[in-house]
Amino acid sequence: MRSFRRRVLEWGRDNRRDLPWRRTRDPWRILVSEVMLQQTQVERVVPHYVRFSAAFPNPSACADAGSAEVVRLWAGLGYNRRALNLHRAASAVVHRHHGEIPSDDVSLRALPGVGAYTSRAVRSFAFGADVAAVDTNAVRVLARCVSAAPLSVGQAMALGDRLVPRGGSWEFNQTMFDLGATVCTAEPKCGRCPLRRQCAWYGAGGGEPDPWRRGSTATKQARFAGSDRQGRGRLLDALRHGTVTSAALAAACGWPDDSARAERIAGSLVCEGFAKWSGSAPPVLELC
Ligand code: SF4
Repeated sequence: MRSFRRRVLEWGRDNRRDLPWRRTRDPWRILVSEVMLQQTQVERVVPHYVRFSAAFPNPSACADAGSAEVVRLWAGLGYNRRALNLHRAASAVVHRHHGEIPSDDVSLRALPGVGAYTSRAVRSFAFGADVAAVDTNAVRVLARCVSAAPLSVGQAMALGDRLVPRGGSWEFNQTMFDLGATVCTAEPKCGRCPLRRQCAWYGAGGGEPDPWRRGSTATKQARFAGSDRQGRGRLLDALRHGTVTSAALAAACGWPDDSARAERIAGSLVCEGFAKWSGSAPPVLELC
């Protein structure tokens, strides 16, 4: 365990990627980056993160802006519910914590959109807590290198907690992300891996089954083209630019011949707090 930890930290010193959220310990900016990184590639997140943190440098600025402005700035990132949750989290931080992101697990996980992983990431990256933040990439490294057996997310977090060096969780967790993202990838590059000598799976010949694939809990993403999610995305994009009348809903969703489906999608956006109907002759849909 000690040599694993040492090799991870040594490799990280020379190879860790320079990313904008790694240049700050500000808890709000770290929360923003972690929410954006859920289900979205690092390269796509970078410009959005830079714009978002410039527009909303703290929870109060985000809460004051209103959800419509936050959803508008989220354009291009997808999974728009994250934008609403982030806005709600900012409001909760202002009301419950005097505008300061809390540092304890219970308070963090009470914020909308913050689960076990995000809470750990904020505690480690902003507050230096000795906890593992184990994303999909880190689970892959741990499953192959340390356990040589499938790991659930809970097991990976428990194992990660035993490996995190005291006072060094930031370096350790960030490096584990990068090892999994650039070396121990789906098709691992064992020839240039700093953990070759420690790796249980590689040491056993690296044959099938791959402990990570066997243990993978990743669910297959449903087809996007033609899905409700695609229609929702299109309607939200239209709303980012203005209001949409009831008659224009189907075209805005991209289904000109299916107004019933478009109305159902509009209804779900209203229920979830993204949009509201206003005016009366005729009513128009607009961002909340
Ligand atoms: S040796 Fe190969 S399988 Fe093991 S941690 Fe490195 S890249 Fe992953």
